[in-house]
Amino acid sequence: MTTTYVIGHQGPDTDAIISALAYARLKAHDDDESIVAARAGELNPETEFVLDRWEVETPHLLADAAGEQLILVDHNEHSQTVEGAREATITEIVDHHRLGDVTTSQPIFCLIKPVGSTATIIADLFAEREVELDSQTAGLLLSGLVSDTVILRSPTTTERDRVVAERLAEIAEVDIEAYGKELLAQKSKLGEKSPREMVLGDFKEFEFGDSSVGIGQIETVEPAPVLEQRDAIRTAMAEIVDERGYDVLVLLVTDLLEEASTAFVVGEQREMVGSALDAEITDGEAFLPGVMSRKKQVVPPLESAFR
Ligand code: MN
Ligand code: MN
Repeated sequence: MTTTYVIGHQGPDTDAIISALAYARLKAHDDDESIVAARAGELNPETEFVLDRWEVETPHLLADAAGEQLILVDHNEHSQTVEGAREATITEIVDHHRLGDVTTSQPIFCLIKPVGSTATIIADLFAEREVELDSQTAGLLLSGLVSDTVILRSPTTTERDRVVAERLAEIAEVDIEAYGKELLAQKSKLGEKSPREMVLGDFKEFEFGDSSVGIGQIETVEPAPVLEQRDAIRTAMAEIVDERGYDVLVLLVTDLLEEASTAFVVGEQREMVGSALDAEITDGEAFLPGVMSRKKQVVPPLESAFR
């Protein structure tokens, strides 16, 4: 039997990890293939908390996917795939991001919906395929959903996410708001992270036209300790720009309670970011009221500006 790995993006967040776990469980119901949940990087503290809370084992770390069979969840562009994915066979995609650049030689099952989390889509697939959700799987899916949507507050949240969250919370027997706050508290734990680790903790890389753009995000209920380290963070950002040859690197420090972000911008193409986001960049820093979502509020305007 060929092994197929279900895997999320590099720098995995909770939605990427639990989507791999839950989709592998769903696939195990109706496939002959041997399906294994995998991950493309280390767990963040929030995800560790989730796996602990629901007593689930950490997915297998796939260091190199060359020659393997992959189901991609929570991403569909090569700048975010696991190492070796270009030499792998991609057999399915389940995602909630913009359509990226992954191509295949065969027709595949590809499901991309504009909803708040991949977890939302997978929860619906369980219902559609009439596979019963146990409380553990529901708990995992709910975790991905509330993490990505900041407890249904992010502008990425849709009506579908609300309906699915209610159903998952009922099965998992948790209160959405109370459980979500526990998760957010974990998300805000920066611990002993170095400035470099803060920049790269939740990080995505994009090719916009000829420009290579990195966008990191720190989501926190307490931004002050991060903002106070701005000099060290900007130094770390400049090093990363040099190493990786980015045209620009943006770090969003998102205040989850105030529903606003501070953006640090480093690199040659700084000005472009200011005009794209319609923000005044002063000393490489801009305040972005109402901005919480990288995917919905930052990537699209940057992409059109660079193209
Ligand atoms: Mn994700
Ligand atoms: Mn997601």
